[in-house]
Amino acid sequence: MEKLSIIVPCLNEEQCIRLFYERVNEVLRTLPVEHEYIFVDDGSGDRTRKILRELSDGDERVRYIAFSRNFGKEAAMYAGMKAATGSLVTIMDCDLQDPPELLKDMYGGIADEGYDCVACRRTTRKNEPRIRSAFARLFYKIINRFTEVEIVDGARDFRMMTRKMTDAVLSIREVDRFSKELFSWVGFKTKWLEYENVERAGGSTKWSFKKLTDYAVNGIESATSAPLRINLWAAILFMLAALGFAIADIAIAASQGTVTELFILLPVLFFMAAIILFGMFIMGEYLRKIFGQVKARPMYIISETEKDKDK
Ligand code: UDP
Ligand code: MG
Repeated sequence: MEKLSIIVPCLNEEQCIRLFYERVNEVLRTLPVEHEYIFVDDGSGDRTRKILRELSDGDERVRYIAFSRNFGKEAAMYAGMKAATGSLVTIMDCDLQDPPELLKDMYGGIADEGYDCVACRRTTRKNEPRIRSAFARLFYKIINRFTEVEIVDGARDFRMMTRKMTDAVLSIREVDRFSKELFSWVGFKTKWLEYENVERAGGSTKWSFKKLTDYAVNGIESATSAPLRINLWAAILFMLAALGFAIADIAIAASQGTVTELFILLPVLFFMAAIILFGMFIMGEYLRKIFGQVKARPMYIISETEKDKDK
């Protein structure tokens, strides 16, 4: 029988944990899998840890990891995946915004349809502040311009993965993790389930505007070094401007016999700026290489070899 590891990052979720546990248990009863919970207490200041202790006292399938302080959801997901022993791994928010009923379809997608991963995306952002939705949309537009793999708008971290895919994600050792990109980057066949936004079961969102902005900027930085190339385009633009001003100067000198000092300086200034920007572009190119080498992602990820073909 397959074993499902359920990873649950928790930050100050005292109002949700028990509710979550009951609701998920109900769904698990209908699935032909063994299971374990791995709750990750991401430095909560409320009764989260106490509740986790109690749950694990009453149910040996409940495991928990408590961080020494708040390290963020990305770190919590990584810790959970690392500790997971199941042949299937799922990541769920504690606030029941990830509907547990979907676990059935996810399991079906992997067990019956042969997908490596079944992930969820929200089709609506109902009940979310408009401005937050607008920024989220802008973020996905920008990041998808730059990254080589697609990062699906509205994608949740809520997904079920095979052991193969989980190990692939774990093989990426980056410290600044942006899992939404990593899940796409490792490849494999992913099925997308869609659902409408659900409200939190209790408590409040843990993402302030500042935290979300940090998350977005960090996501772009981790996923791609393409913005460094902007220097090249800026250099070309400044060089063209310098050329334009120089031609204008010559034309003015030819017609009026003299050019003001400011106009003589303009092409020189733009030319110098272009040279400096070009130098920064060259440095950026080496930075890109160093960045890639330091991230040290695997060069490729194997999906199957002859040893797997009969499984
Ligand atoms: N979370 C976490 N560490 C953090 C922020 C959030 O472990 O620093 C957890 C949180 O407890 C919840 C999940 O990540 O289980 C998603 O957070 P939240 O529901 O606040 O985000 P939203 O649904 O509003 O995007
Ligand atoms: Mg939530």
